[in-house]
Amino acid sequence: MKVEWIENEMRETKRRLADLEKCLKDIQQQCEHHFQEFHEYAKCTKCHKTVSLYY
Ligand SMILES: [Zn+2]
Repeated sequence: MKVEWIENEMRETKRRLADLEKCLKDIQQQCEHHFQEFHEYAKCTKCHKTVSLYY
């Protein structure tokens, strides 16, 4: 495998990951959360957003 090819793949993958993260963030911002509580955190059953219960 060529180094250039690997670097290019890494760049593309990072871009794709950033797109997916943005997509998920948008969904989580629009979600009417329904949190289920666990020991140290709560997780939304719809969008899977998690929040810590300890501050
Ligand atoms: Zn949610």
